[in-house]
Order: sequence, then C-alpha cells, then structure tokens
Amino acid sequence: MKKNDTFVVTIEDMGVHGEGIGKYEGMAFFIKDAIVGDRILAGVTKLKKGYGYARLIEVLEPSEKRVDARCTVARQCGGCQMQHLRYDAQLALKQDKVRDNLQRIGGFSPALLEEVMEPVVGMDEPFRYRNKAQFPVGTDAKGEPVFGFYAARSHQVIPIQDCLLGVRENAQILEQVRTYMKQCHVAAYDETTGQGLVRHVLIRKGFHSGQVMVCLIINGDRLPQEEVLVALLCEVEGMHSISVNVNRERTNRILGDEVRLLWGEPFITDTICQVREEGIDNDRWEETKEGEYSGDFLPTGERVTFEISPKSFYQVNPVQTEKLYSLALSYAQLSGEEIVWDLYCGIGTISLFLAKKAKHVYGVEIVPEAIEDARRNARRNQIENATFFVGKAEEIVPEWAREQKMRAAGQRPDVIVVDPPRKGCDERCLETMCQMQPSRIVYVSCDSATLARDLRYLTDHGYELKRVRPVDQFCHSMHVETVVLMSKKN
Ligand code: SAH
Repeated sequence: MKKNDTFVVTIEDMGVHGEGIGKYEGMAFFIKDAIVGDRILAGVTKLKKGYGYARLIEVLEPSEKRVDARCTVARQCGGCQMQHLRYDAQLALKQDKVRDNLQRIGGFSPALLEEVMEPVVGMDEPFRYRNKAQFPVGTDAKGEPVFGFYAARSHQVIPIQDCLLGVRENAQILEQVRTYMKQCHVAAYDETTGQGLVRHVLIRKGFHSGQVMVCLIINGDRLPQEEVLVALLCEVEGMHSISVNVNRERTNRILGDEVRLLWGEPFITDTICQVREEGIDNDRWEETKEGEYSGDFLPTGERVTFEISPKSFYQVNPVQTEKLYSLALSYAQLSGEEIVWDLYCGIGTISLFLAKKAKHVYGVEIVPEAIEDARRNARRNQIENATFFVGKAEEIVPEWAREQKMRAAGQRPDVIVVDPPRKGCDERCLETMCQMQPSRIVYVSCDSATLARDLRYLTDHGYELKRVRPVDQFCHSMHVETVVLMSKKN
C-alpha cells in the first residue's frame, strides 16, 4: 500500500482522540470522522510500521450510532471530534474507556469494577455548555475581519456563525466587534507579518450570574476610539466587563500579561452550587426554548461564588462541574469535624466547596496567581477555615508530614482530595499521602490512564477502591473526568 491508495473498511473501534479504527490487510488504520460501525471508503494519508492513518472519503454504510453533526463545520473545526456519534454512544465509549484503563493499567478485576463503577454522568443537552470562548481574528478575501477557528494544522482563520458548544451571546458579540473594526478601520492581526491589531476575542459568561465578559487581545497598547467598541458591546445583555489584553509577542500564546479595563468591573462572578447525588442525572438547569441554559435554578445545598478575570483558570463546563464537585463532596463524607487537604487546588474551587462541611481545608497549588484568587474567593464567601499554600504538592506535603508539624498543629488529614493535571500525581506525593493515613482519598482525574496507575499505587499501599464515577465534562470529545473514592483498609 502507498499514500493516496483507497480501500473499503469497517470501523471496529474508537481511538483515544475520537477517531475510528479499522483493520485492512492486517494493518490498523486511524481514521478521523469515522465511527464504530461505519463501513467507509478511506484514503491512505500516512503509513507507519504496522499501522497507518487514512481519511474518510465516503460513508458507504453508516453505523446505527451515526447522527448528523449539528454544526456545519464540525469536520473542519478541531473543537469537536465526535459530534456525529449519538450522545448515548459517546457516553458508553467514555464509560468503557475508564473501565478498560482501570482493568488494563490499574490491574483491577472485572468483578471489582462491576461492583464499584457507577454510570457516567452525562448532560441532558450536550450543547451550549462552554462558559468560555477564544476566537482568533483574521481577514477574508475582501479584506474584512472574520472570527472563527484555525483550520487543521494551520493558522488560517475559518469563519463560523455560531459555535454550538458556546453561549448564544458569542455570535452577537463577534458581530459588534466586527462592526467596530470596520467602522473604526481597525485591522486584524496578521501572524505572518506581525502587523495589525486585534488577535483574539475572549468571551466568558457566568451561567448563574448571567454576567458577560469580553476581552480583546491586541498587538498594541490601545485601540482607536475605544468608546465606540464599549458602546457597541454594552448593547449585549448581561455585559459586565470589557477589557483589552496586550500581547505583542509573535507566539502561539493567546494572552499577554497586561490587562486594561475599558468598562465595568475587572471580573465577572459565577457560583458553583451543590447538586444532590440523587438528582445528579437530571440537569437542574432549566432549558429555555432556544436550548440554552438559563441562570434560574433551585438552590439545593452548598454554594460558593467565584470572581473570574480574563486570565483566571475556571472550569469551562459549569453544568457538569457542579455535578463533579458535588460527587467529590459526597465521596468525602464530611461531618464538619474533618481536616481536609486539597492538593492541586487551582483557584480553590473544590477546597472552598468542601470548607463549608469540614473543620479546616488546606489547599496546595503550584501557580501563585491561582492561590491569590483562592484566598480572595475565600474572603468573598466569608470562608475562614481554608488555608492555601503555594508550591508543588510533592514537596509541600512531605515537608509538613516529615516534621510531624501536621500532627502537632492538628493538621493531620482525615480526607485528602487530589485533582492533578493529566500526568497524574508524583510518586513522592502518593507515598506521603499513604504515610499520612487519611481515612479517605478522593481522586478527581482528567486522565483515566494516569488515574489507573495512581490507584494501583494506593491499592498496594493500604487503600481500597470503593467508588468510581466518570463525568462527561467535554461532550463531543474523548476527554472524560472521573471521581474516585479510596478508603483505608482496616
Ligand atoms: N481543582 C482545581 C484545579 C485542577 S487543575 C479546579 O477544579 O479548578 C490541576 C491544577 O494542578 C492546576 O491548577 C495546576 O496549576 C496544578 N499543579 C500542577 N502541578 C502541580 C504540582 N506539582 N503541585 C501542585 N499543583 C500543581
């Protein structure tokens, strides 16, 4: 076989990036946009030893799980990988992925997994869930500004009318920015020449608060006639914060360091509310006729309000984040007497959520600005029983444990929560966690392979796997979050 050869293949499996996998002449082919059950005509794009890549030319017999993608540019845009796969099938795929990793990498028996695994938590309506969008700005053939996404493996901007994962306000905001750019003769930034002003439009929305933030990332200190932009953007319902971010560097990094406020407050707020575990499979968010999540909800339990600035880290799917953290809270089984350590705490989202039900929470995070946010948000919510440390979890935690400082200060944890990045926990961190002997460890993971590896370590050092529940935070992609409860063996 050689490049551009075509062949007919049946897709038997799905890969880690949501691509279809089919076998032809003993070789496994990875084929983007094809789904399990499809019979397709494919064209070879790349050959490697024993496997290859191909592109989908035509679907000959569609899989029974195939649906029409709702978005017209779903194939070109890299944002979604599986919009053409029925949502229940997406969820099943994610459940299987977590189970397979726990079995294969973690070495847990199918019988145990059958017992401890609960069904993946999906969304009622897996669209319009993103509270943040960053649109690159380009110029079309007529010289007019366009907003959209980068074409695959390039930085050419493909325009979109409306991204169906994002909020409705996005389209209106982009239209207002376009009007401003045309009216005031403001050019889009051109990466190849380094000329032009507007690079990206960053939009964030608080789902509970309804507040909207717009930040234009510009290749300069200021925009001409900024008041025109402000007036246009203020027509958008919920507008709360308008700023520019200066980025003059010729890099792929989107945000620069400096943010200058043009109008409103420097941040928007949003709230994370507890969802009762019994109700977790139903979105409390009432859907409006347009299929968008409305901010009305019934308060059912704990709630924490966060300030979000253009540069803050904040979970992008607020509907599922509430479910994820509510599960973590439920797994932690807090009575109000516990000392809790929240490692890899970010801006303290989980820490502050747990603080309401614990005696004291200690958060550890490597990024200093995130800890500043955490402390400010603690004050904002009048939470006094949370303390935050800047540093690496694998250094701070052993340091405290080693000197027995924790015991003396009454800080020995009853519960440890970890929410590490994809690479999982450092072994030094796991080792100290086990030495500290908390009754429970709650592991929130965004990568089930490293999760499986770390759970194996904990299992070999005195802990037992009790509960596992995947949560679909990133619908139409292969990413899956998982919450796990480990208990100390008696
Ligand atoms: N729990 C938070 C953030 C989780 S993301 C939330 O839900 O919002 C993982 C966090 O771990 C990031 O904020 C990252 O900066 C931090 N991190 C990465 N490596 C770390 C380390 N070695 N020690 C402590 N924190 C780390």
